[in-house]
Amino acid sequence: MKVKEKILQKVQPINCRHFIDGKYVDSINLKTFDNINPATEEVMGQVAEGGKEEVDLAVAAAKNALKGPWKDLSIRERSGILRRIGDLILERVEELAALEAMDTGKPYQMALEIDITRAAYNFHFFADYLTSMGTEAYQQDQTAIHYSIRRPLGVVGMINPWNLPLLLLTWKLAPCLAAGNTAVMKPAEWTPMTATVLAEICKEAGVPDGVINLVHGFGPDSAGSAITEHPDVDAVTFTGETKTGSAIMKAAAPTLKKLSYELGGKNPNIIFADSDLDEVIETTLKSSFMNQGEVCLCGSRIYVECAVYEVFLDKFVAETKKLKVGDPFEEDTKVGAVISKEHYTRVNSYIELAREEGGDILTGGTRPEGIDKGFYILPTIITGLGPHARCVREEIFGPVVTVLPFDTEEEVIEQANDTHYGLGTTIWTNDLRRAHRVAHQIEAGIIWVNTWYLRDLRTPFGGMKQSGIGREGGIHSFDFYSELSNITIKL
Ligand code: NAD
Repeated sequence: MKVKEKILQKVQPINCRHFIDGKYVDSINLKTFDNINPATEEVMGQVAEGGKEEVDLAVAAAKNALKGPWKDLSIRERSGILRRIGDLILERVEELAALEAMDTGKPYQMALEIDITRAAYNFHFFADYLTSMGTEAYQQDQTAIHYSIRRPLGVVGMINPWNLPLLLLTWKLAPCLAAGNTAVMKPAEWTPMTATVLAEICKEAGVPDGVINLVHGFGPDSAGSAITEHPDVDAVTFTGETKTGSAIMKAAAPTLKKLSYELGGKNPNIIFADSDLDEVIETTLKSSFMNQGEVCLCGSRIYVECAVYEVFLDKFVAETKKLKVGDPFEEDTKVGAVISKEHYTRVNSYIELAREEGGDILTGGTRPEGIDKGFYILPTIITGLGPHARCVREEIFGPVVTVLPFDTEEEVIEQANDTHYGLGTTIWTNDLRRAHRVAHQIEAGIIWVNTWYLRDLRTPFGGMKQSGIGREGGIHSFDFYSELSNITIKL
């Protein structure tokens, strides 16, 4: 039996309810909205539509759960529960990957190998990290000793995007729980299924009722804004678009919530002539089109040194044409469907704009032939645009890249930095000194040399400029999810 039939026989889409105080519940007015499969355009199920009333209940449960027993568990006990959540995710890896592929349109294989595997690892990583953490202590001559203690922040609101739903939600939830907080989570309206299953997994692993709560719904004037405006929510961690970050900052201002932001990017992929082009092409295919280009870290602005511009383009276009676009559950599919009709229209409008701006579409720019249903867009490579073209400057967040030639190091650094984003950058070169020199001048939070998407969860992750506020990973996550108090004892 083919993988597709095997998986789809076992896993069916689920209807999604809120999870409040340890129980699945409907909305008070029983309101729901359709969950659409982007690969088929069919309605897969119903999602409870939450708003202020459901958020009020969820926040009250989370606030009450702060009293205990979660915060009073020993490090060993709390770490054990986090580890168990990771184990249970792995036990259900195929089911979760199938639900993620149905919700997002991404290839099942990617959901299996990246999204869900990493979601489990997020819990395993913070389970271990928790057991080895210390705090600061200073002796001030013979006068005093100072030491710091970490305490939970309180109720944390988590607003999540649709592109890597469970991976990014657990990237927040695992350290939030490790630090002893309670949570009210809102998954993106397009991708509610894996978060719904996660609630059950957390309960099974031993997370007490009220510690994690989940409210489904939309952003503005809905569950999203109800979380960000709620006076009893102490902090908001948000991953999504820069303009949404700005709206959340306004909503959170009256109650001065602590904020952590992972926002948009328009990341440069800089290819110097001395790099190994086969390696560059292999990785650039991923950094351009992985997850349909719907990864905040995708390198959608490609700059190639003039000496290898033509040869790079020939090879890159030829390899891009070989990527199989289509059914997320076919084993050899590399590019699935984009998230929604709205997003499909938006990405296509950028391709149209590129044509109007005088760009040349070297490959893609249309739907794949023979697929009538689903929000599919062929991987698209655009050349001939200047540095001020909107397609070069604005985040398209789809399978679309622009390629521009450059002559000098100074010129490419200036162009790479000429943006209000500052999330990630890849530099390809075999010249060690140049690698350091360029990396130090690039304005981005994450800089890769001769690689892309390689992560160690201990390292700081986040964006500069309008790509984010704060860093996550290792101790940086604990710095957000805990309050530090300093205690001074006079000797
Ligand atoms: P989005 O901003 O449209 O939505 C994200 C979440 O915010 C959703 O849950 C949505 O319902 C909610 N929301 C929207 N308006 C809101 C409001 N006014 N108040 C409260 N909540 C609100 O983003 P998206 O389209 O889901 O995700 C794509 C974006 O996310 C891209 O810009 C991408 O670069 C960015 N992203 C960044 C990172 C990172 O680590 N920097 C990771 C993934 C995605």
